[in-house]
Amino acid sequence: MKIIRCHDLGFACDQVILAESEEEALNLAAEHAQTVHGVQVTPEVTAQVQTHIQDLSDEELDQIVGGSSTPNGGLNVNGGTLNIYPPSGGTVNIFINED
Ligand SMILES: [Zn+2]
Repeated sequence: MKIIRCHDLGFACDQVILAESEEEALNLAAEHAQTVHGVQVTPEVTAQVQTHIQDLSDEELDQIVGGSSTPNGGLNVNGGTLNIYPPSGGTVNIFINED
């Protein structure tokens, strides 16, 4: 798994983006930055975000998702974003418009 912490990008934001691949992580992060933070995602921004992608072990993923309390997937509302962790793996991020 790949992980990007929005906080690491310089935002006062607890959003954590999880993805199976670096490309997916970048896409999700770009969508989040644009939707939530109103950031214009340029190639420069993408390159910046890319430097903050980290690998995530299963143990670390358990800690974020909730470990044994959510053995069949999980759901986490974080700020304006609803994160769904389907049991089949992967992540579905739904961004809630707070207006
Ligand atoms: Zn954010």
